[in-house]
Formats: sequence, structure tokens, C-alpha cells
Amino acid sequence: MKHLKSTNKKKIHVCFDLDGVLIGKPAFLPKKVIELVVRGKNSNPTKLHFRYPTSKIEEYIRWLSQHPYLRRPLTENIKIVRELSANPSYKLSVVSGRYQFLEKRTYEWLQANNLDMCFSNIFLNTKNVQPHLFKERVLKQIKADIFFEDDEMIIRYLKKRVPLSIVHVTDSIKFPSTLSTNTIAPEISLLS
Ligand SMILES: [Mg+2]
Repeated sequence: MKHLKSTNKKKIHVCFDLDGVLIGKPAFLPKKVIELVVRGKNSNPTKLHFRYPTSKIEEYIRWLSQHPYLRRPLTENIKIVRELSANPSYKLSVVSGRYQFLEKRTYEWLQANNLDMCFSNIFLNTKNVQPHLFKERVLKQIKADIFFEDDEMIIRYLKKRVPLSIVHVTDSIKFPSTLSTNTIAPEISLLS
């Protein structure tokens, strides 16, 4: 069997969270309600813990709210994904804490927004473990270089445990405008 000649140059592995990074939160729900659903009402605000739906109905409602029509793409951020995916120096993956009941929905969303082909791998939390633990495990395993994440507590958690650069994506900042596909690697280390 013939082997293709491979180059030694390692690609920069850039990983993206989905909700709050590429996928907008549901516009009709106030932020407080989303927090309540995702983190639970009695949880200590400084403690990292995520709720798993406790009933089939809640699962169904959360599944419904993930309909591609209700989840607008964050176009500015997606533009960066498309640029990076066209650049052979980069390898892109999704690392999302979304639970198993959202697996199909997530693929539907990625396809509806023509993003499925941009990524080498899509890692979803299909074993329904706590999202921060899932992200820690995957990012270590795949030796990710850069991770785009919106959740501040997850960022703090990962920074202590995974050797990679993390870009904090916020509502107002999105991706740092100083980053271009040519400069992303050196620039990014300044941000972490
Ligand atoms: Mg997120």
C-alpha cells in the first residue's frame, strides 16, 4: 500500500465550544432563566455544577429549544471558523458539553449552518458527565492548542488543569479583532 508523504509540520488544533461561542442562546429567554435551567437554583454560584434534566418533559423542552430556527448562529465567530478551516495550518474540532439527548439536534444545527464540514472532529458529551469534566478529558486527550469558551467558571477550571491557550468569548467581545488567521497562534498566547 502506498503511503502519502506526510509533512512534519504539526497543525494547530483549535477547539470550539458551541453554546455562546458559535450558537446563540435562545433570544426569548432571559439570561437568569437560562442560568437556572443550566446550573440549578440551589447551586452555589461559585461552585461548578451543571444540571441534567430531571424529567422526560424537561428533556423534551430543552430539546425543542435547540431547534435550529431558535438558535441563531453567531455569525462573526463563525466567520473565523470558516477562515481557519480553509487554512491548512489549522485543524478544528468542536468540544461541547451538550448532553446525549441533544446529539441529533446539534448535528442538525451544524448542517443547517453549513458548518459540519469545517471540523475534523465533533466531541459531544454523550455520556452525560459534568460538562467541565468532559471538556477537561477531551482537550487533554486530543492535545488541543487553543480553546474558545464562553463560560468563565469553566475557563478558570480548565486553566489550572489543561496546558492550552483559552480565549474567553463574551457577548460583546466575540473573537478578539486583533486575531487574523495569520497571527492567531502567536497572538493567542498573549491572551491566555
Ligand atoms: Mg458555552
